Amino acid sequence: MVVNVWKNYLSIQTNKAVNLMNKLMQVEDSHSVDLFAKRGIQLVKGKDVYVWDSDGNKYIDCTSGQGVAGIGHANPAVAKAISEQSKRLLTCTGSFYNDQRARLIQKLVDISPDDLEKVFLCNSGTESVEAALKFARLASGKTDYICAMKSFHGRTMGSLSATHSPKYRDDFQPLIPGFEFVPYNNFDKLVKKITPNTAAVLLELVQGESGVYPADKEYISQVNNYCHDHNILLIIDEVQTGFGRTGKLFACEHYELQPDILCLAKALGGGFPIGAVLTKSDVTLAKGKHGTTFGGNPLAAAAALAAVDYIIDNNLAQNAADMGTYFKDNFSNYNINLVREVRQIGLMIAIELKVKAKPYIDKMQDEGILVLPAGTNIIRLLPPLTITEKHIDQVISALVKVLKK
Ligand code: PMP
Repeated sequence: MVVNVWKNYLSIQTNKAVNLMNKLMQVEDSHSVDLFAKRGIQLVKGKDVYVWDSDGNKYIDCTSGQGVAGIGHANPAVAKAISEQSKRLLTCTGSFYNDQRARLIQKLVDISPDDLEKVFLCNSGTESVEAALKFARLASGKTDYICAMKSFHGRTMGSLSATHSPKYRDDFQPLIPGFEFVPYNNFDKLVKKITPNTAAVLLELVQGESGVYPADKEYISQVNNYCHDHNILLIIDEVQTGFGRTGKLFACEHYELQPDILCLAKALGGGFPIGAVLTKSDVTLAKGKHGTTFGGNPLAAAAALAAVDYIIDNNLAQNAADMGTYFKDNFSNYNINLVREVRQIGLMIAIELKVKAKPYIDKMQDEGILVLPAGTNIIRLLPPLTITEKHIDQVISALVKVLKK
């Protein structure tokens, strides 16, 4: 009798919890601006490479919140830093000095390519690109930019003007004038578009959103030399590739590159929103020409300091290199008919299919693995850099299972 009453009570409580969770999903469906194609599950918890949904299902997260959770979810070092700083000082604008901000600025200068000595802190990837575009105009006195086809730099009007795909741009025309697009990895075509008004060339070193296309070393070296010789700024967008993702702390290291301006965000905050722009000291700006209320706040700085230390102390860039290779080598052993090509650098992985990817992305979710799309026929993996061989084996066996069916 007592057991039955207890069981009933538990089932009522469980039903109540399920109803509440369903209601909360409905709230998003009804009232959040209708921009995201939802994946049908509600994530409520994370730990390292895992996330859990509100039904208690556990997933290996090969999305990392779009490349943000480089150090995994709910990292204790970041949680501690946020907790401690939240009791000390949350906000402090750039008009005042701040200890945490100063520490982060010093850290970024120390770990980034040698010549980058100035830092602007902001809150997201797109903001870092916006700032870089403004800085380039201000420092050069020129107005125009060269960008690459298949580029992705963000969704606000400046960064969107630098983003190539018509899918993102077309509904928002007229965008900002002065952006030219050239084929990626083609130096001659790029040079042909340079004019006396060209302020900067803006490139990703690995085009991530369009499906993991790394730049050729020779191409980057030619572009860098040309920009240097012709007084054109080279802006490198490492919003996605930064902080170990490609197997080096910065993708610039693969190319021995010293850009004039470097854009960072995503993994920098260990899950906390933060972006940064680093510049050489000869990129001259002036007081009041750009600004931000939240950028460089002590809470974000504390989180980022903890995240960056974690990445370095645990040599996560090396783990990304090793695990990326481990994935490619082992996955390639399965000759899967549906797979056209696998592209991989560190833990940026694209599995290009001969067919639409969406049904397989959904099936992976049913198998307990969250993966991302790129374009219509690419499955993209951006797992936390803490991932191990054991997890990768699970990811591979799920991929083999769903793709061979
Ligand atoms: N640049 C690159 C290379 C990116 O991959 C992204 C995001 N996918 C952005 C900029 C924009 O970043 P955010 O979404 O934080 O604005």
